[in-house]
Amino acid sequence: GKADAHVPLVVIGSGPGGYTAAFRAADLGMDVTLIEKYDELGGVCLNVGCIPSKALLHSAAVIAEARAMEQHGIRFGTPEIDIDKLRHFKESVVGKLTGGLASMANSRKVNVINGYAKFTSANTLSIDSKDGPTTLSFDKAIIAAGSRVTVLPMFETDDPRVIDSTGALELKEIPKTMLIIGGGIIGLEMATVYSELGSEVTIVEFMPQIIPGADKDLVAPLLKRLKGQVKEILTKTKVESIRPLKGGISVKFAAADGSEGPEPQLFDSVLVATGRRPNGDLIDADKAGVAVDERGFIAVNNQMQTNVEHIFAIGDIVGQPMLAHKATHEAKVAAEVCAGQKSGFEASVIPSVAYTDPEIAWVGVTETQAKEQGIDYQTGVFPWAASGRAIGNDRTEGKTKLLFDPKTHRVIGGGIVGTNAGDLIAEVALAIEMGSDASDIGLTIHPHPTLSETVAMAAEVYEGTITDLY
Ligand code: FAD
Repeated sequence: GKADAHVPLVVIGSGPGGYTAAFRAADLGMDVTLIEKYDELGGVCLNVGCIPSKALLHSAAVIAEARAMEQHGIRFGTPEIDIDKLRHFKESVVGKLTGGLASMANSRKVNVINGYAKFTSANTLSIDSKDGPTTLSFDKAIIAAGSRVTVLPMFETDDPRVIDSTGALELKEIPKTMLIIGGGIIGLEMATVYSELGSEVTIVEFMPQIIPGADKDLVAPLLKRLKGQVKEILTKTKVESIRPLKGGISVKFAAADGSEGPEPQLFDSVLVATGRRPNGDLIDADKAGVAVDERGFIAVNNQMQTNVEHIFAIGDIVGQPMLAHKATHEAKVAAEVCAGQKSGFEASVIPSVAYTDPEIAWVGVTETQAKEQGIDYQTGVFPWAASGRAIGNDRTEGKTKLLFDPKTHRVIGGGIVGTNAGDLIAEVALAIEMGSDASDIGLTIHPHPTLSETVAMAAEVYEGTITDLY
């Protein structure tokens, strides 16, 4: 039958991918309809991801910093935490940003529909909204439906003491003891927050290393600091079962190889942070003829087109890395191609950041990858123990490492561990995108005394123009 309305462009999902695509397309003169199942725009990142986690991590960092000041002769005493007030602050941060999106959508005349969309054909959608079901036909569609938490069947329970990242960010309480299953970025960020707020945290990770994607030498300073903060970090260990009991959640462990693990323990709270899966399986993509792989990902070309030419896909739903800054860049490409421009997604690198304390950030080729893939490389490493600023900050555990192509001396990768590493890595990303070599970086005058100098120094170490670090 005939659809209730016809639109030129529909965007499904309002996360960093969806809202960016909608706004860019509107700015290019298109009539845009944006569909979001929640009342608030912003998707995972703004509501239950990047933004609330960073708001809480800031508080955690201040607590840690205040404690460290005791060494410098300044004593603040034990922090008193008003969890309701902290939660309100986090909610106000999220509210400012999602409210901002709503007014940006409004000023661009983006038609926002609150409801859940599913394909019914290659040119039609059904939308399930509070006001009842409607149908929409479209010329072009951009799928930005994102991803969701995955919980292994063995961890599924209705017990409120077993939570995922969304539950952890709700900040309902500060449990006395907490087990975090998964030593990836999300798990460790939450470990940082809850341990600074006063929980006794245990982390369990299946792989031999926490943050398995980052080089071991970059993880080492974080690991060392975390060991002084949390109760225990169990690597090469898996959780075999969890059992909610009256006095806590009983957890059984096993070694990763299946042999006997540590003794079972009881926890007040268990956070499952074992991964996310794309929502490709929840939108009836097959009815539009859009191919979804068995994991739920949708394949796209570099113009962000799916196998169906007029249907695009962006963000977490198209593949790794599942990061907001990847989604926003893909979104602009999809919107521009929809508007008839010849854009393409051609980023050569996408930075990754763990906003832990210290932060770990990396971009391009890692040393581990270079070794595994037989990529020829040489490093320039600058230890922060030689940085005046890091010494003044009393945070000398950091390290800045650049990887160079030994023939061209161009930067091919970089990794930084230390305070503000996430901000510092942007320069390395720019250097790689611009094809900079070591002297381009070393000869660029960096402000003194800053941590940004460590990037220039790493290039100079590689070039041999600095040799006397100590
Ligand atoms: P999403 O943000 O997942 O948005 C998809 C939207 O689509 C959702 O609002 C959903 O409700 C809606 N939707 C889905 N299906 C439908 C449908 N059928 N109809 C209507 N609406 C639908 N990334 C970073 O880069 N930096 C960070 O610091 C960071 N921290 C994170 C911390 C946590 C705890 C988590 C969970 C994630 C974090 N991420 C971070 C990842 C980041 O949130 C995602 O990469 C990003 O949100 C992906 O954007 P997206 O637009 O693809 O999808």
